[in-house]
Amino acid sequence: MSETVSQSQLNSTLGSGLDVDAVRRDFPILDIQVGKKPLVYLDSAATAQKPQQVTDTIQRYYMMQNANIHRGVHYLSQSATDAYEESRRKIATFFNAATPDEIVFVRGTTEAINLVAQTWGRTNIKKDDEILISELEHHANIVPWQILCEEKGARLKVIPIDDRGRLKLDAFEKLLTSATRLLAITHISNAIGTVNPIREMIRRAHALDIPVLIDGAQSAPHLPIDLQALDCDFYVCSGHKLYGPTGIGILYAKYTILKSMPPYQGGGDMIQTVTFEKTTYKAPPERFEAGTPNIAGVVGLGAAIDYVQNLGRDRIARHETDLIAYAEDRLATVPGLKLIGSPETRAGALSFVIDGAHPHDIGTILDSEGIAIRAGHHCAQPLMRRLGLPSTARASFACYNTHEEIDALEKAARKVQKLFN
Ligand SMILES: *Cc1c(COP(=O)(O)O)cnc(C)c1O
Repeated sequence: MSETVSQSQLNSTLGSGLDVDAVRRDFPILDIQVGKKPLVYLDSAATAQKPQQVTDTIQRYYMMQNANIHRGVHYLSQSATDAYEESRRKIATFFNAATPDEIVFVRGTTEAINLVAQTWGRTNIKKDDEILISELEHHANIVPWQILCEEKGARLKVIPIDDRGRLKLDAFEKLLTSATRLLAITHISNAIGTVNPIREMIRRAHALDIPVLIDGAQSAPHLPIDLQALDCDFYVCSGHKLYGPTGIGILYAKYTILKSMPPYQGGGDMIQTVTFEKTTYKAPPERFEAGTPNIAGVVGLGAAIDYVQNLGRDRIARHETDLIAYAEDRLATVPGLKLIGSPETRAGALSFVIDGAHPHDIGTILDSEGIAIRAGHHCAQPLMRRLGLPSTARASFACYNTHEEIDALEKAARKVQKLFN
């Protein structure tokens, strides 16, 4: 598909232009020692580290600005409200939404998908309707739809992958039918790093008037995202994977869709008037932000967006593409090590297994070398089943990782291989 850029094309871009030494100085945690070894953090797909610009902003917020928003007439409340809404505007610009009113603050990707399932889904999904997902999904983009399907008597359909870990697009075409009411797919697989050709998939779904939700938990940190160009109907992501704090994430939806959706939770801040007989609701995004929100989280996420903008998303993407290609090359030289999947375009993460070693043992031995990776099913049990593996070891990358860290990973993987063979 046309948008798919091959890894080698990306690799040929010489030098990312990112000053990684300077970047690393923004992340004090990267200087800690694990035992006597320097920390090598290769688990950013689980959560990214936070630059000091983000932690300082959060601290400053609590020290100088803390108040509840949208309520008080006093100075601090106005200041906190301004900071909160300023973040919403930044995020809308960052993702090129049509208006800040299309950005709803939630706890993270998981809550965003549950919100869509419980509001849009409950209103629009009926008996015998089909919701289309893929074998690459995180549990967060499976279970909320299963709950909805069970309640409504609807069916969950699954786009299969091939042995290289790519979606089978011919099967996708066949699964798009007059019964399909929603396509909900991940942009990038958190377990094996496949980048899906979502632009083309959105186009094909829209040709049949099928709305599309993109799970952007892994794409927001790694790729420049232009929501108006993508034209997806929903896009969801988590702040903590984007160098921001935990407990904050966003739901983007086209405004006409948001306006048609009933509330998710009821309470303060989302109402226009309340009587015991009837309550009327505010317009989106407030309609979906009941109660006191994670104000410090929103402000911190705004600082994370500034940070990424300053580094430059293209530069970050080039640097990470280079790291992934280098890691693929180095790990391929380790005897008995098998990389899982071989998509043309991989971003963020790669998974591997080593003959004779359980992935949990790989994780433990790497930890003794100061290297943090993830071992397990990566919240993608159906994908593991499809791959015929109980679990994998996953290394994932961010703007602050270096070639030397990948050399350390390779060396430790060789050690594992020797120990178990
Ligand atoms: C991490 C992740 C999620 C879940 O995100 P939370 O922040 O835990 O809500 C969903 N989908 C993908 C692809 C992920 O990587």
